[in-house]
Amino acid sequence: MIKISHLVKNYGSLCAVDDISFEVERGEVVGFLGPNGAGKSTTMNMLTGYLSSTSGTIKIGGVDILDDPLNAKRLIGYLPEQPPLYPDMTVEEYLSFAYDLKGCKLNKAKHLKEICNVVKISDVSHRLIRNLSKGYKQRVGIAQALVGNPPVIIFDEPTVGLDPKQIIEIRNLIRTLGKEHTVILSTHILQEVQAVCDRIIIINKGKIVADELTENISRAVENTRRFNVKICGPQKEVLSALRNLGGICYAEVLAARDGDAYTYMIESEVGVDIRKKLFWTLAEKKWPLIGMEALGMSIEDIFIAVVDKTDDGKNDTAKKKRSVEVNRAAAEKEMASAIVDRTADEAQSRAESAEKDTDSDSEYYTDYTIKTDTFAGGKSEDK
Ligand code: ADP
Ligand code: MG
Repeated sequence: MIKISHLVKNYGSLCAVDDISFEVERGEVVGFLGPNGAGKSTTMNMLTGYLSSTSGTIKIGGVDILDDPLNAKRLIGYLPEQPPLYPDMTVEEYLSFAYDLKGCKLNKAKHLKEICNVVKISDVSHRLIRNLSKGYKQRVGIAQALVGNPPVIIFDEPTVGLDPKQIIEIRNLIRTLGKEHTVILSTHILQEVQAVCDRIIIINKGKIVADELTENISRAVENTRRFNVKICGPQKEVLSALRNLGGICYAEVLAARDGDAYTYMIESEVGVDIRKKLFWTLAEKKWPLIGMEALGMSIEDIFIAVVDKTDDGKNDTAKKKRSVEVNRAAAEKEMASAIVDRTADEAQSRAESAEKDTDSDSEYYTDYTIKTDTFAGGKSEDK
């Protein structure tokens, strides 16, 4: 359905997209995963014909996006990173406008009504876009992408800036769309691609570093190396013992204190399961270990895990060095997103039980509580 060959984009001397090639089959849901600045948006903008490439070709359904842009674009629905909404239009007016622009041939009223139902914006269709919450605006952006029922749907960071409940809803929506469409979405959040995609393409510094089925990536990621451990004992001594324990490459004390216990974040070296050794060491010192929580991997870890698997450890030293260099900010960011994800899971169960009662409207959903501090932390990785 989509075929990208040797795509390159230079911005002056900066090579934002560096010779990438991949294909996406009809009906696949593919995640484009990479840190901020990796080149995801640039790729998507070229894929959708918003931006010209420096070199390389893009074919959508066999149609070259540069040779025949109109027909290629007809096959694509696109939600850019900043959805092009007109705040002074109502939702209805805006979708009608998008319909006319795209020159659709479907029954207009019926088609737009269907889209509003799928995206759950029927109840706000008469409201001005400027007055909608961020989550609803995002849904209007998605609705716009669905107008004309294009077979290929491309979402650039569809859940950035949404709260956990909205994130779950949008992810569910994307999963639903994936049943009948070819979907490509970009994100810098691993859990997001794991949640919705069949296949994950990891991009870093403009290059594809992995292209794998989600289950393979998940397997590579399973052996987590990062834990929050709660230990009773003198903080300084505990920290120094952790740092001196063979197999641990990083240890830091976190602010949280609980009686005489402190929480520490530790990271083990690649391929080391530190848990038993940690337990016995602490037992010997008579510092009770009263909690241990595995933390998710950062994108950096995934690069290491995935690249490890694919190149027989040729760059072992470089990778080890990189993993030791994992800085505190990255660790904190990862923790924050783990917390947000957890909050999101809780929100989902809460949302599900709430949905049984009423078809609740998240815009007016006030009893929904998030710890503001953790949420702000999680959001800090957004742009
Ligand atoms: P991502 O979407 O993965 O965060 P982008 O594709 O937006 O990454 O950006 C890739 C790189 O290209 C970044 O280094 C970014 O600063 C640079 N870049 C993006 N757009 C432009 C532009 N219009 N002019 C110059 N540099 C740009
Ligand atoms: Mg981007």
